[in-house]
Amino acid sequence: MEAGKNNVGYALECPNCGKNARLVEHLQEIPHFGKAIITTLACEKCSYKLNDVMIANAKDPVLYKAEVSEKKDLEAKVIRSSTGTIRIDRLGISIEPGPAAEGYITNIEGILDRVESATKALISSPGTDEADESKLARKELERIKKARNGEVPFTVIIEDPFGNSAMLGAKAKKMKLGPEETKRLQAQLEGLDSGKEEEKDIELPPMPEGAEAEE
Ligand SMILES: [Zn+2]
Repeated sequence: MEAGKNNVGYALECPNCGKNARLVEHLQEIPHFGKAIITTLACEKCSYKLNDVMIANAKDPVLYKAEVSEKKDLEAKVIRSSTGTIRIDRLGISIEPGPAAEGYITNIEGILDRVESATKALISSPGTDEADESKLARKELERIKKARNGEVPFTVIIEDPFGNSAMLGAKAKKMKLGPEETKRLQAQLEGLDSGKEEEKDIELPPMPEGAEAEE
């Protein structure tokens, strides 16, 4: 567990085994932006661990949008809370919010890394012998590789009905999240809270618009 200066610990029921887990939070200063609250829930009994992050003093629903057309655009900072949805339509990527979703501070390249690992895990998981699924996953890897090299321009969108997420960079724009979309996302999160399962928070990979049809 990270050693932070403003650590506060709470005992909390472990969502995995029901025993006592510990929630630790600390503040992190984000240059040119403000403070974020980093939380880690950890259970000693079953080794369950869940990280989250939220912008301190956040309130308003937000939508951030960033264009990526060259390699250095991948450096835009991404603060993704468990209440944030990340979408990269061009690459068929959608990272959904929910109680089992992880929060993290990374950059756009870090997001691609995460999707790449999830996609590789899908290909090598023994449950995935459906050839179609694995073929789609391989195409996804191909697309991510091109995106990384700046060969495929794309747009990253992060939406958060509670304003806990953000994106910072030369090409990152903060926009208003419309009331309809805010309502929809809040309802989605409430639904997840009561339903409470949702293991995978990275969704793979519906073919994006205009991609070649599978054979
Ligand atoms: Zn546990």
